[in-house]
Amino acid sequence: MMNTEKKAWFRQLHWQVLVSLVAGTAFGVFAPTAAEGVGFLGDLFLRLLKMIIIPLIFTSLVDGVASLGDARSIGRVGVRTMIYYTCSTAAAIIVGMTAVNFIRPGQGLELAGTSALPEGFSTTGQSLSEFLTRMVPDNVIGAMAEGQVLPVITFALLFGLFLSQMNGEGPAAVLRVVRGTLEVIQALTLGVVKLAPIGIFALLAREVARSGVAIFQELGLYFLTVGLGLGFHALVTLPLILFFVGRRSPFAYFRAGSPALATAFSTASSSATLPLTMECAEHRAGVDKGVASFVLPLGATVNMDGTALYEAVAALTIAQMYGIELGLAQQAIVLLTALLASVGAAGIPMAGLVMLVVVLEAVGLPLAGIATIIAVDRVLDMLRTATNVWSDLVGTAVVARFEDGAAAPPWSEEA
Ligand code: ASP
Repeated sequence: MMNTEKKAWFRQLHWQVLVSLVAGTAFGVFAPTAAEGVGFLGDLFLRLLKMIIIPLIFTSLVDGVASLGDARSIGRVGVRTMIYYTCSTAAAIIVGMTAVNFIRPGQGLELAGTSALPEGFSTTGQSLSEFLTRMVPDNVIGAMAEGQVLPVITFALLFGLFLSQMNGEGPAAVLRVVRGTLEVIQALTLGVVKLAPIGIFALLAREVARSGVAIFQELGLYFLTVGLGLGFHALVTLPLILFFVGRRSPFAYFRAGSPALATAFSTASSSATLPLTMECAEHRAGVDKGVASFVLPLGATVNMDGTALYEAVAALTIAQMYGIELGLAQQAIVLLTALLASVGAAGIPMAGLVMLVVVLEAVGLPLAGIATIIAVDRVLDMLRTATNVWSDLVGTAVVARFEDGAAAPPWSEEA
């Protein structure tokens, strides 16, 4: 367990991360050319994280499912996890819809000169049946090689489930190998985590150097609406859930999770952040390992509160921009499709923006509206990714609280 209490403040990871956030921003503003130059350090950090993802997801899910034991416990944790995902995401969307209906950021927005959909966006959104079919891999190795997370999750869950039901030497040996591999991967993660301050600094500096300030003036109100919604959800709704349902101190939990949150912010990828999220939950926060191994890999791709909130705000902003009034029934469709789109979005940069097509198509809004709001997407992506990871962490505490024997040590001792 990481004991940071006796260390000087500047040797504590959450302080180092905070300093690199501030220093990275300043460096990007004042030395943009040099910031471009150090960008490769951020890429290296990102590649190290990506290198870990697939083996981590597979081994931790198999271990998580196997350590939950019988099918009933797995089912119970699974149901609780799904209830949390659905409720927290729906709460996020409602916050976003309230904000966008109140602030109405789309009214003053100019349409982008073109009526075409930006490059890289396809109008044929994936249907639900297609999405479900793709969750089962036809080739596990292929899915792993392509870094497709959902099919790998399906295989790992089934593998763990069947493994947990079997007796005998063979299956026991397989489980030992999986657990041994997981231990090695986690030790490796611990090494990579130490590089987080450098990686975050370099990624952020380059990002700041690349994005101009002017676009934020034009799209300021829209940016503010998404930002306020995300801020409310992350700083009010989720801490309340954490405190009253998860029985954790939000401050201490936030501090323990801060390296993962800062990494989510600077990489804009929940999947790439997963190794850190698991490290923070299990070692800095002391959440039950079986629960964390189950809830977090799943959450990194399925539970995206920030993305869902963003989808709803962006869709309604585009409606306002075109002067289209959406009635209550249509807003309910936006809510539902935003929820589904957030489940379907991969934990990678810009996935939310691509999934916006699904929401717009569902209520018949012009897809070209995306061209206008795309300008500020990167920073919003960073904010929504941090919110996504924060919700995963909160969910882990909530689910863990209800598990027998999961009486985690108090946060104050951990962080
Ligand atoms: N980048 C987000 C994530 O990885 C997904 C999104 O684009 O909204 O969580």
